[in-house]
Amino acid sequence: MSSTPAGRTVIRGGTVVTMAPGALDIPDGAVLVEGDEIVGVGPAEEFASVDAEVLDAGGGVIMPGMIDTHRHMWMALLRGESADMSLLTFLDTLHDRCGKVVDAETLALSTRVSAIEAVNAGVTTVLDYCDAVNSPDHARAAVDALAASGVRAVHAYGMHAYDEGVATFKDHGERLDDARRLREETLSGDAGRVTMALALSLLGAVPFPLTEAEVALGDALALHTASHSHALWGTVFTTGVRELRHRGLLRPGQLHIHCTNLTDGEWRALAEAGAKVSIAPETELQMGMGHPPIRRSIEHGFLPSLSTDVATAGSGDLFAQMRLALQFQRCVDNDAYNRRGEMPVNLTYSVRDALTWATRGGAEALNLGDRVGTLEPGKQADVIVVGGAHPNLLPRPTRPEAVVLQAGPADVDLVMVAGRVLKRAGRLVDVDLPALGHAAENARDAWVRKAGGLVPAPAEQILRHSAEADVWAAANLAQAFCGTPPG
Ligand SMILES: [Zn+2]
Repeated sequence: MSSTPAGRTVIRGGTVVTMAPGALDIPDGAVLVEGDEIVGVGPAEEFASVDAEVLDAGGGVIMPGMIDTHRHMWMALLRGESADMSLLTFLDTLHDRCGKVVDAETLALSTRVSAIEAVNAGVTTVLDYCDAVNSPDHARAAVDALAASGVRAVHAYGMHAYDEGVATFKDHGERLDDARRLREETLSGDAGRVTMALALSLLGAVPFPLTEAEVALGDALALHTASHSHALWGTVFTTGVRELRHRGLLRPGQLHIHCTNLTDGEWRALAEAGAKVSIAPETELQMGMGHPPIRRSIEHGFLPSLSTDVATAGSGDLFAQMRLALQFQRCVDNDAYNRRGEMPVNLTYSVRDALTWATRGGAEALNLGDRVGTLEPGKQADVIVVGGAHPNLLPRPTRPEAVVLQAGPADVDLVMVAGRVLKRAGRLVDVDLPALGHAAENARDAWVRKAGGLVPAPAEQILRHSAEADVWAAANLAQAFCGTPPG
């Protein structure tokens, strides 16, 4: 299933949008693939005599696969269940209640569904934020599901510990040891299709020395770390950039997710460290996390990346995230004119910018910029075709990047990851969707029963839990300033 194709393939019959900095689009272009690698990009006529299998783009846009920099794949089976929930209610009802009882088999099926959903939507790389590793089997099940799916993935091994339920780890040290074993025994390389990162415990959720131990493990195993950072308001829970900086724990390539509530000083600290940022517009806009920090991240020197976060609330595709991010930021920027009783003449960001965030921005945020994110010789053959003869794309836009505002997952006709075709002529290859749907529904129903249902607790109880979390987060974070000074 996951063997590397050996032959040559040429994708042609469409406009090539390479997303390489400064590169022009190539009308009637072609991409030549050999094995798992891109070996040529140019006008189709240059490749006319090449002996290769031909994949016809049908007039669509030939572009790099999109990159989702933060996706809790283990929650895909709970699709739509937090559609009307704030973050506080989601954390209490979905995350905690379901996370503590999810078994490895259910987690694997959810990860598989999420991977197939991603591929179908033209997302060829995902960072799987696997913060429900209740046992060693959970992490292995997730990795196996990712490997079998064909998607390119960074398995971010979750350090998050639920306070009760099925967790088999005796203490935090056992969890660190297990992550080390996974790195050494299963995901030791960084060149494979599935690689590894560490998903830190929520900042403030554990005593700061444990956060420090997690970052130290990342250093020891040469793994990047990822963190949900500064996503709440009126509480210190999930903050910690100041503490990380004080202890010397900010890292180049460290991924900070959401960042909706960072001060300018904290933005500068992340920028100076060479950290990366992941923005999840759909959940941020819905759940009370604040404004997706598109402009703020750019003004501090970041190239934004986009993420879908959870299928319990939003869509699993980056078309939606591009649209929400772009139009939200335009609205905020236009407001400055409107409030003066004026109309803007020009817009601030373009559809090309949004496409950059979903491709090259994602690759750089996941430290994969030398392998994916653009169509260039030497890069991995992660290629998609968006377009074909769908009514919403007729007439075909003369500016190919305009598909940002017009297309959806159904318009993704071809998906190739590492040279292997996973979707062709608009249909997923080797996926029995009715059987998968049946299994997914049964597993979902059993999981929700085990969790005791998904009716939210009364608002007063949720607010009380939140107030308690604020107090112990303050105590946990304060430990960054106590004890042994940072070395
Ligand atoms: Zn998240």
